Amino acid sequence: MSTPKARSEIFSVAPYVGGESKLPGVNRVIKLSSNEGPFGPPPAAITAMQEAAANMHRYPDGGMALLRAALGKKFGLDAAQIVCGNGSDDLLALLIQSYGGPGTELIMSAHGFSIYEIAGKLAGCVVRKAPEKNLTADIDAMLALVSPATRMVFIANPNNPTGTLVPQTEINRLRESLPPDVLLVIDAAYAEYVTRPDYDPGIALVNAGGNTVMTRTFSKIFGLGGARLGWCYAPPAIIDVLNRVRGPFNVSAMAAAAAIAALGDEHWLQDGAAHNTRERARLADRLTEAGIKVIPSEGNFLLLDFLEADRAIAADQYLRRHGIIVRYVKSYNLPSCLRVTIGTTEECDLLAETLIAFVNG
Ligand SMILES: *Cc1c(COP(=O)(O)O)cnc(C)c1O
Repeated sequence: MSTPKARSEIFSVAPYVGGESKLPGVNRVIKLSSNEGPFGPPPAAITAMQEAAANMHRYPDGGMALLRAALGKKFGLDAAQIVCGNGSDDLLALLIQSYGGPGTELIMSAHGFSIYEIAGKLAGCVVRKAPEKNLTADIDAMLALVSPATRMVFIANPNNPTGTLVPQTEINRLRESLPPDVLLVIDAAYAEYVTRPDYDPGIALVNAGGNTVMTRTFSKIFGLGGARLGWCYAPPAIIDVLNRVRGPFNVSAMAAAAAIAALGDEHWLQDGAAHNTRERARLADRLTEAGIKVIPSEGNFLLLDFLEADRAIAADQYLRRHGIIVRYVKSYNLPSCLRVTIGTTEECDLLAETLIAFVNG
């Protein structure tokens, strides 16, 4: 019997596997596998979402006027140059559908965020990956892949899962060296955690011309991953395209209410960033001292390199036996590495003690 056939490129993509959250037989699981904020959602966001639920028989404002105004105010941006999405994944996929497609090439770095490859292949693009140096995107290697078919370049800065940051001068050089009609997408999902003083999440390059987009998310420092909300800042012509291709109601009214409340919490960002900076350094120091190779990170996670795949798998299993779930990143072509999210102080201590015990046999 013949059956409906999906487009062939769909089968070139393996389904995305998210961080696990359960361990059989373990009651209290410490989940450090998805780079979520450690403190739950901002309390004001919970209240706002509950209040918005009383009106959920109404469609949301598809243009997200209030949320865009709040974002514009918080980050000093023109609200007309913002589009919101059902997570930033939504916007990344819409950009690829709009500017990529069959016959086009998309460039990313070897250990870049997996969604670019998944969404790129689904759209029919050829996805080309540039080798990295020291687990950091190598701008010259990315530029070497540019061909007449190149339409888009994606870079997460800082990158997930490596945590590494490309210096601002190099990001600027990438933009200057790319043909102007190639769209550069800077994914700044971890912008709020970066401590380097010269860092710009992409705003300056968006302002400088018509060919760069910055994407951001509420899933990390704002603690709203389950609500699904991302946004992008882009030149007017790209905003116009996104407003044509996005779902008319791609953000729920409840998510928008929660996000506006989260932005209104004066201390949330600052406190979350300060905690992350402190605990990230403390955890990195303890693990380094124990002999584990820690990749320097500007995100809310650390990539740990156990040098051999067997050793990484053994560490992962040891952590699981102690109720701690982290992320084995073999699918990122990093078979000797685990990615661990910065949790609460208590969670970081427990992770450090458990890994130290593992190392000491
Ligand atoms: C977590 C993450 C995102 C956020 O995705 P959402 O769809 O907004 O939850 C985007 N890019 C990178 C690199 C990430 O790690």
